[in-house]
Formats: sequence, structure tokens, C-alpha cells
Amino acid sequence: MKIAMLARNANLYSHRRLVEAAKARGHELEIINTLRCYMNIASRRPEVWYNGEKLPRFDAVIPRIGASVTFYGLAVLRQFEMMGVYPVNESVAIGRSRDKLRSMQLLARDGIGLPVTTFAHDPKQTEEVIRLAGGAPVVVKLLEGTQGIGVVLADTERSAKSVIEAFRGAGVNIMAQEFIREAGGSDIRALVIGGKVVAAMQRSGAKGEFRSNLHRGGSAKAVKITPEERATAIRAAKTLGLNVCGVDMLRSNHGPVVMEVNSSPGLEGVEKATGRDIAGKIIEFIEKNAKDGKTRTKGKG
Ligand code: ADP
Repeated sequence: MKIAMLARNANLYSHRRLVEAAKARGHELEIINTLRCYMNIASRRPEVWYNGEKLPRFDAVIPRIGASVTFYGLAVLRQFEMMGVYPVNESVAIGRSRDKLRSMQLLARDGIGLPVTTFAHDPKQTEEVIRLAGGAPVVVKLLEGTQGIGVVLADTERSAKSVIEAFRGAGVNIMAQEFIREAGGSDIRALVIGGKVVAAMQRSGAKGEFRSNLHRGGSAKAVKITPEERATAIRAAKTLGLNVCGVDMLRSNHGPVVMEVNSSPGLEGVEKATGRDIAGKIIEFIEKNAKDGKTRTKGKG
């Protein structure tokens, strides 16, 4: 098969592994820099151009679109979809997962466990938002944050109020969330591919750190998850319509709660912690599912 991967940095571990895995299985994988693609969107025969040439027909596309280029990246991916190229994750599904409020609303509608989460636009509602989230200690998060940046634990109502006001003053959107203390600075990431959990790891924060992000000095190890956690991860992926994703959950007193679903999960942490060949599993998924024109979002909003 001829596979395209929309990515910006060919040297990232995840991207190198996907190239390796595709080659090992006899496929051709071309890395295409998302931001260098251009297209004539008014053409009736959709095409994508790259470095002065029209891109050839691919059998599948692996979107690895960074959060900072979501808007343009999804437009490029949609163009591939309009051409009938099979996307590992569809543009609409990625769009849902990139909008934290939208994805939490969808997950809540499907009865998936979530931390109590509150949000308001008007700064006058700050106290109410903190109260609705259960009061201090409370976690305040930037809506557009990644890798734990912009996630703050406020111990008192007063500090929560000042953090929220500071973020607001900087013109960014935030949400307040019940602090799941019993998670003990650890979270679970379950890697879901094609409706199955193929690997799971537990990430634990550095000493004195409630955020378990590997980018924040956390460490990862393989973990056996409970049937309830497995079911929650699979349902979360299904609700958002993602074929490949990382579902981040906290172990709360009232069962697993989903924090986030990541449509371009990093492979390094999970492959190293579990010894599983996740890149190979993604390629295998493509082999089983990629068919011309098999994209539900073809030509749709
Ligand atoms: P990001 O998307 O930036 O990684 P997250 O929402 O995943 O932000 O939060 C980063 C880390 O902070 C999580 O991995 C988790 O360890 C911790 N965390 C986030 N929200 C909560 C919460 N409500 N209660 C307890 N810990 C939390």
C-alpha cells in the first residue's frame, strides 16, 4: 500500500516507528509536512499539492496533526478525505477530540465517567464555577493546554480565584475540575486501536507533582487495567469516533474518569513501557480497514 503520513517532524520517535513498521510490512510510507501542503479547494477534482507537484493517489493517510496546527491540518486532511483516501482518524473525529468542552459534552452524554468539570465565559461567574466544581482544592485547566502546561492545582478558594482571574486576564479559556486526590499523581493511558485496548500504561508524576505527564518528569510503567477501565476507554474512543487514540483516565473513588482523549498519541512512552509494537498494530489496522472511499466524512462537514 501507499500510505501518507501528515506530520511535521520526521525525526520524532512515533513517526520513525510508523515508517519502520510500514516498511517492515511491505508498504511505502511518505511523510508529508502538513503545513507545506496546498490545494485548490474550488476544484471539482480535489487534489493536494506539495513542493510543486500534485500528490499521487494514496491508499491511506495517517494524520499526526499537532495541536498547534489543528485548523490548517484538518483542512488538509479533509482534502484527502474528499479524494477518497482512507484516514486512520477522520477529520471530524479529530476536531471533536481537540475541543475539550465538546468532547466532554459528548462523553457525558454517553454516560462515560468524567471528573466534575465546570466552565463559564463571564469572569463574574468565577466563584460559582469553583463552587460547582466542588470547591477547593480544585484543578484549573487551560482549554488549549497540552503536556500538562496550564494545569494548576489550587489548594484554596482564594488561590483558585486568582489563578482563574490571571488566566482570564491573559485572554485564555479555562475550565475548573474536581481534584481527584485519590489518583495519587498517577493516571492511566489506554491505547485504543480499532475498538480494542492494545496497551495500557500508568504514568506517575515526579515527587511532589500531581501531574503525571512524561513531559513534566513523570515516569511510565505497564499496568493491568480493570475490565471497567477497558470498557471506558473503548467507549470513549467510540463516542468520539476515533480509530486510534490514547484515552487518559484517572482512578477515582467512583471508578475510572476520563480526562482526555488524544487523537495523535505518542508511541515512545507506551512502546517502551509495555514492549508492544504499537506502530505495527496501527499499520495492521490500516491493512484491514483501508478501502477507497471508505470515509464517512467524505464531502461532509
Ligand atoms: P494535558 O492535556 O495538558 O496533559 P491533563 O488534563 O491531561 O492536561 O492534565 C495533566 C495531568 O494532571 C494529568 O495527567 C493528571 O496526572 C493530572 N490531572 C489533571 N486533571 C486532574 C484532576 N482533575 N485531578 C487529579 N489530577 C489531575
